[in-house]
Amino acid sequence: MIIRPQSKGFICLTAHPDGCAKNVDEQIEVARARAKAQTPGPVRVPQTVLVIGASTGYGLASRIMAAFGYGAKTLGIFFEKPADDKRTATPGWYQSAAFERRAQAAGVQAASLNGDAFSSDMKRRAVSLLKDSFGPVDLVVYSLASPRRTHPDTGEVFTSVLKPILRPTSSKTVNFQTGVVSEVSIAPAELTEISQTVAVMGGDDWNRWMDALDGAKLLAPQAITVAYSYAGPELTESIYRRGTIGRAKDHLEATAHRLNERLARTGGRAVVSVNKALVTQASSAIPVMPLYISLLYKVMKSKGLHEGCIEQMARLFVDHLYGDVPPPVDEHERIRLDDWEMRPDVQREVSRAWDRVNGRNVEELADLRGYREDFFKLFGFGWDAGTENADVDPAIPIPSLEQKIQGA
Ligand code: NAD
Repeated sequence: MIIRPQSKGFICLTAHPDGCAKNVDEQIEVARARAKAQTPGPVRVPQTVLVIGASTGYGLASRIMAAFGYGAKTLGIFFEKPADDKRTATPGWYQSAAFERRAQAAGVQAASLNGDAFSSDMKRRAVSLLKDSFGPVDLVVYSLASPRRTHPDTGEVFTSVLKPILRPTSSKTVNFQTGVVSEVSIAPAELTEISQTVAVMGGDDWNRWMDALDGAKLLAPQAITVAYSYAGPELTESIYRRGTIGRAKDHLEATAHRLNERLARTGGRAVVSVNKALVTQASSAIPVMPLYISLLYKVMKSKGLHEGCIEQMARLFVDHLYGDVPPPVDEHERIRLDDWEMRPDVQREVSRAWDRVNGRNVEELADLRGYREDFFKLFGFGWDAGTENADVDPAIPIPSLEQKIQGA
């Protein structure tokens, strides 16, 4: 079939397997080059890595950096859909399929589990696979972004919301597909919405993963675990850092401190990395963020400071996690990969553009084109017009999941 993008709001309903593979290939190239250029060499390297949320965005880039930067064995957990009679697979499915094919070709061990990472069953499956085929892990990356979570003990379903707290907020926003700039008003969250968002995107599940690994003696000495957070400027704070999602990130960061006390006993470390705002499936769903991100892209590109997920993860691994002299953490013990985004000169320019931006000048002040391109690239479109017009089979298997089905 010939696969075309079919978008609806902030999601695209189709994905292209060849474009998704191209995305993985480009990231592999960056990972290899950045790890190779590391001077002095790494103090140690990741060897056995568990990535929870491994199929897209920051989690996929972390997996690529571990496997192709350092040759680590990786177990990736994600929630993706294969193709069926009516639909293509999700992009994370195609990317994981491409990742595993490339890993196999490079002789790097990789396996994946597809299903709900919040469930106890998934933790049991991961523990059993690690015991049978991988051994203890020395790096655990926690990179889930999900709109809901079923509690593993009570079965209660929590839904996360993106709302301000206490006061309503109104802000400019853009429909990145049409370029229409409008004002959005969002009512403050109810108390239960705050606690539900914390239950989904806070640190409880991260802690449970670490308990499961520790209980099964699958944490190697000096194991590191890292989860991702966002801070952002005043422009986005009512909806992000001071909103419901910010409360969840506070909880995630507090969890890092508790996990760190535990891991420090064996020379390990738990840390949160505050990453840059980027176009991913998760961030395109947050009101206000597409306008902020497209203004930010314009400024950061003009200053030669722009990075994608893989460049951010390269800095995380090369400089912060495995570097000879890691840059300092902030006052809350967090790694700051958003340091270039938050540079005063960058934020001054973004803020000036934010004040002026309207429907008439948005294409000039903001990098809406770059935003749109990145958005469609997430789904495998816009990488290569030649392959996009070709007839392709959307039913691409993920090798390690196939073996399981055959062996079951
Ligand atoms: P993403 O949407 O690209 O990736 C989310 C991953 O989680 C995917 O692999 C998906 O399959 C997996 N997932 C979701 N629900 C799952 C479930 N129930 N079970 C198993 N897997 C599941 O998101 P992203 O933007 O890369 O976000 C990852 C983390 O990085 C989040 O904590 C996010 O807050 C943080 N972060 C994102 C940005 C940004 O701008 N995108 C900036 C800073 C921090």
